[in-house]
Amino acid sequence: MRTELHRQHTSALTGVRNLGILAHVDAGKTTVTERILYATGTTHKRGEVHDGTTITDFDSQERDRGITIFAAAVSCTWAGHRINLIDTPGHVDFADEVERSLRVLDGAIAVFDAVAGVEPQSESVWRQADRHAVPRIAFVNKLDRAGADLDTAVASIRERLHVIPLVVQLPIGYEDGFTGVVDLLRMRALVWADGSGTYEEGDVPDELRDEAQRRRRLLEETVAELHPGALEEFCARSELSGRTLAGALRELTRTGEGVVVLCGSAYRNRGVEPLLEAVVAYLPSPLDVPPVRGTLGEAVQERAADPAAPFAALAFKVNATATGRLTYLRVYSGTIRKGETVLDVGARRSERIGRILRVQADRHVDVDTAVAGDIVAVIGPKAARAGATLCAPDAPLVLEPPTVADPVVSVA
Ligand code: GDP
Repeated sequence: MRTELHRQHTSALTGVRNLGILAHVDAGKTTVTERILYATGTTHKRGEVHDGTTITDFDSQERDRGITIFAAAVSCTWAGHRINLIDTPGHVDFADEVERSLRVLDGAIAVFDAVAGVEPQSESVWRQADRHAVPRIAFVNKLDRAGADLDTAVASIRERLHVIPLVVQLPIGYEDGFTGVVDLLRMRALVWADGSGTYEEGDVPDELRDEAQRRRRLLEETVAELHPGALEEFCARSELSGRTLAGALRELTRTGEGVVVLCGSAYRNRGVEPLLEAVVAYLPSPLDVPPVRGTLGEAVQERAADPAAPFAALAFKVNATATGRLTYLRVYSGTIRKGETVLDVGARRSERIGRILRVQADRHVDVDTAVAGDIVAVIGPKAARAGATLCAPDAPLVLEPPTVADPVVSVA
């Protein structure tokens, strides 16, 4: 029998985004991450920026973010959605860790530099994400830099990544004059209000109206070409409604046939709010992704993101911290309650879940349960390694074939 609690858990899952940020070193991954934490109020309550530059205000907050820089995953809240930001190590020496982090996320933002475009490392991480079929949106960063050009960066995405760019914004100005974007879905100008990262919405400036219309048309034609449902509407009306366009963009993101492209300057805190809106609009929730597959001996099992199914989670990182030995889990199915005992299948060992924590930028928040789709850290397991499957003792399965055990990282 499905309980009311189960129904609530399931509907809450539609608001979860397990998100990674992929980038070439220096493209701005750290800055984008920090601006997201800032925009979501995790490191700074919005509306508290008074005078002085935002950068300075922001930097003063950075000193408090002790947990964030060591966390394998940080939870924040945006417009009623829970966004779990999962760290994807950029360094090739951590190949296992990169693979595992790609495995536990449901979607990603690929960050590119508006001057350099696609760089070799962004190409390799893109290929890795392809192998894991991770739905992605692209953020062309650093539009404030001398020589920045969205079109050139978009051309390099098309040519080097062999994916069809679906550009949903037109920049208003470049370099120091980069003051906003035209949102091509709403056909409205979003102008950065100040350094706080918020924007004000207004009419498309006269001088950009023709160009914005041309680009909207191009977007509609590209989408109609790729998406049968959109094509039907396009043929009938020779244009697409915003609703059809948004639905088709979501679908093309899920299948990887196209990549939605946004732009901004993370450093100047410009463009991160529309980016978060796109995360919520286009990237999937844990309910939208295919069930995870596990094995038990020769048998393959599928587990859907169902809070009522037997519990199964993958430990994707283990950190020794001042709070204790944190085992980061992606819960794939079922529900775990504080105090329960689970089985580490590979090690054939029982482990007790003493505490369940949501890791935020500057604190750990204790919760009583974690359900399918969640990313949490637990304290209690004494020996579980990254890569271990933790599951209900009466419903064992292995989510990841055993490899050389990863070390426990000490960050205390
Ligand atoms: P990561 O290596 O990808 O994590 O990149 P960082 O976020 O550390 O950024 C690399 C450098 O680029 C730093 O010096 C940042 O201050 C700078 N940077 C990041 N975003 C922007 C931006 O939007 N504009 C400009 N001009 N510089 C940026």
